[in-house]
Amino acid sequence: MKFDTAYSLSLDDKLSIYDVRDLNFDETADFDSDNDRFLCPNDACRAAFDTDNALSTFNAKNVNYLRTPHFKNKSTTRHIDGCRYASTHKTATAESDDEREENFPSEFVLTRRQYERKTPPASAEASVPQAPAKTPSNRASESHGSNDSPPEKTSVFAHPVECFVSNIDDKDKLKRMPLKIGDHTATYWTFFKKIEYLQDNKGLIYWGRIKAIKDYTSSFRIDFEKKVWLDKKPYSVNVYLSKKLIENYRKRQAFLEQIKAAVESERSLYCFFYGVTPELKQVPSKKNPDQTFGVFSANIENLDHLIIREAPGVQ
Ligand SMILES: [Zn+2]
Repeated sequence: MKFDTAYSLSLDDKLSIYDVRDLNFDETADFDSDNDRFLCPNDACRAAFDTDNALSTFNAKNVNYLRTPHFKNKSTTRHIDGCRYASTHKTATAESDDEREENFPSEFVLTRRQYERKTPPASAEASVPQAPAKTPSNRASESHGSNDSPPEKTSVFAHPVECFVSNIDDKDKLKRMPLKIGDHTATYWTFFKKIEYLQDNKGLIYWGRIKAIKDYTSSFRIDFEKKVWLDKKPYSVNVYLSKKLIENYRKRQAFLEQIKAAVESERSLYCFFYGVTPELKQVPSKKNPDQTFGVFSANIENLDHLIIREAPGVQ
């Protein structure tokens, strides 16, 4: 049994490991998972122990990762009898290499999750000399699952992408698991569309192996290896990332680290994006500026919905 969420003491809420990563990289959020404490998400179990009975995190801070991020028990972590997380007795040494993401969110929410830190009201309780010591509450989070039911929604794109990538060898599972984005419901298998088949349907998560990343003055251009065929002719596919968009991005540093590592990488990298569908455009030829050629292209509008990563096992 893996932890789908853990209770964050500082936020008084249950977070997935992808929420934790998103917060760690968010330069506008006052959050550092090293300074937080993550406790068992089972309310009864958490109430039975003090806040030293914490979990640890794996890959909460690596921008680029290969192995699936997760929460895990420390060797000292205890659970009550009947807690569904009690059997997660894996320690750092006993972990196998074939970890995969087992918690499939059934909805990818396009608006970012908001976290409200519990701060004591300033004026109303001015007579209280000190804020009471923080204790874990049993407050259930409505939208992100309460008690020990797995969270059904996520607003972190990396989560459904990790579900897809780490389970790529289990097509039956990907064809079985439902995924909703906006008004569109499908399975993971049909929502993730290889870039060369982007004409099949609009509004999907497109992905493909990266051929090259070009670093221009005002943008990066990601070229995909596979081509799109239209009327028996092959067309290149690319997406543009405006540097202005990156400059204003709340996860700017992490994003630059991701894309700069990708530019220099010799390894196979894949790009996943949602929100735009590349369309056939005529662009001027560099060699002969009088001529144009066709290319399927799109401008990325939301960096939250784009990922560049390795994807072992994917072809
Ligand atoms: Zn527990």
